Amino acid sequence: MSELLRGLGASAGTATGPAYRLGDPPRLPRPRPVTDPDGEVDRAYAAMDAVRDDIAQRADAAADPTTAEILRVQASLAADRTLRDGVAMAVRAGHEAPHAVAAVLAEHRAALLAAGGLLATRAADLDDLRDRVVARCLGLPMPSLPAPGHPYVLIAMDLAPADAALLDPAQVLAVVTSAGSFVSHTAILARARGLPTVVACGGALDIADGTVVTVDGAAGRVTVGDTPAEAQTTRPRLNDEPVDLRGRTADGHHIALLANIGCAAELAGAPVEGVGLFRTELLFQHHVDPPGAQEQVAAYREVFEAMPGRRVIVRTLDAGSDKPLPFLPAGDEPNPALGLRGLRVARRGPEILRTQIEAIATAARSCTARVEVMAPMVTTVSEAAQFAALCRDAGLPTVGVMIEVPAAAMRSAQILEVVDFLSVGTNDLSQYAFAADRRSGELADLLDPWQPALLSLVALCAAAGAAVGRPVGVCGEAAADPAFAVVLVGLGVTSLSMAPAAVPGVRAALASYNLEECRAAAQQALAATDPAAARAAVTRI
Ligand code: PEP
Ligand code: MG
Repeated sequence: MSELLRGLGASAGTATGPAYRLGDPPRLPRPRPVTDPDGEVDRAYAAMDAVRDDIAQRADAAADPTTAEILRVQASLAADRTLRDGVAMAVRAGHEAPHAVAAVLAEHRAALLAAGGLLATRAADLDDLRDRVVARCLGLPMPSLPAPGHPYVLIAMDLAPADAALLDPAQVLAVVTSAGSFVSHTAILARARGLPTVVACGGALDIADGTVVTVDGAAGRVTVGDTPAEAQTTRPRLNDEPVDLRGRTADGHHIALLANIGCAAELAGAPVEGVGLFRTELLFQHHVDPPGAQEQVAAYREVFEAMPGRRVIVRTLDAGSDKPLPFLPAGDEPNPALGLRGLRVARRGPEILRTQIEAIATAARSCTARVEVMAPMVTTVSEAAQFAALCRDAGLPTVGVMIEVPAAAMRSAQILEVVDFLSVGTNDLSQYAFAADRRSGELADLLDPWQPALLSLVALCAAAGAAVGRPVGVCGEAAADPAFAVVLVGLGVTSLSMAPAAVPGVRAALASYNLEECRAAAQQALAATDPAAARAAVTRI
């Protein structure tokens, strides 16, 4: 007998295979008095060394530079002098090795969090480090992604960025998490790897290891207890893409289908007309010092060279809140999502933005890609105007802004008087319009992109663009949902940008509706009172 669990479809594709749960963190045993402090310090140091070596080895063997860098930073934390001194002091104060390690890492974690949002990534790294060192001290297996020796469906409460970076599509058939939302970074990384994914799936953690499940990443369904002959996964197949990369409705209306990327490697084989969102902050997320001009020019050029003659929209660093960058000044603020993030960081560190814009312009001059640039988290017309002036002075003529703040959506017509295009970031626009943290699984219903109020904001932007003949794209994760893409086109959006793996599904959906049908679906979705009714509008046309 099979059981059906429902969640949110976060990355399309289906997969069937045995489920395995991400290892639980080790539990600390009951404390005992320390009789041999020197021996206890040695035990703690030996565990820290072993963890450092293990992580460094995995960094050397990593398949891509981003993963290698994440792991190298983690390895260096295990060797950190301050941490080691703190552990020795805690042991001499009477704590056994695993307790001393846990206490000292908890202290550092609290200090990082108190320092503000910018160091949040490091805090997550410390949690992982603590679990590894404690496990080593206790002689328990290292907590890690399951390794059953055959492909499997990964079950977890949520994935730390480092876990998500290590997902191997040859081993992991699909991902199911009990927390998370459509726009959480787990979902974004899973989509980037083309892994069928269901998030916010209640009951997921009750699935016993080895139980065969079927994951439908488009419908957000997990069937528990199937018994098919063998594990399998069906992902969107990029090689099946037609040579003509232009997205079209059934009656031939052109909609540019673009890629969301963090580095050039993600463009390999991507069936896209260009790049709609190049998240440059992902290149430098583990840099302690600001990246130099030359390093930036090289990284941007790599992307531009992969898209000769095609449109590439580079987003300037979007740091702060859920995407801290260690080298950018942190605001000492209780609510980082409402603080210095995105373009606002330039209020305290204008030089970093200036250097980045010059590096983009330098890289653009030596390539044939049609480079455009846009700023994240723009709120007012004057912010947009200042950013546009900075870019144009540097020789970048085509400038846009992201619409992620409701105030900007409401003034989109005026913003279009000073920039050339808009790109709607539905992930953050949902967060700010619905006052719901984009990482919250519990509020996933509010973050549902089918919320009619979100559609109203997108409609406002699209109408502003249509009135003056300027492009308005959507680059939030919602553009990857084929049915939602039909509605966006009906609202008047001119391009859709998404993880490359999602493009074939969206292309097929657009090709089956003519523009009038898209418009009818959009009107019905706008008139709906809730997300379910809005979704149903598309299935009715
Ligand atoms: C968005 O907010 O919709 C967006 C595309 O930006 P990010 O997800 O990188 O914040
Ligand atoms: Mg955003």
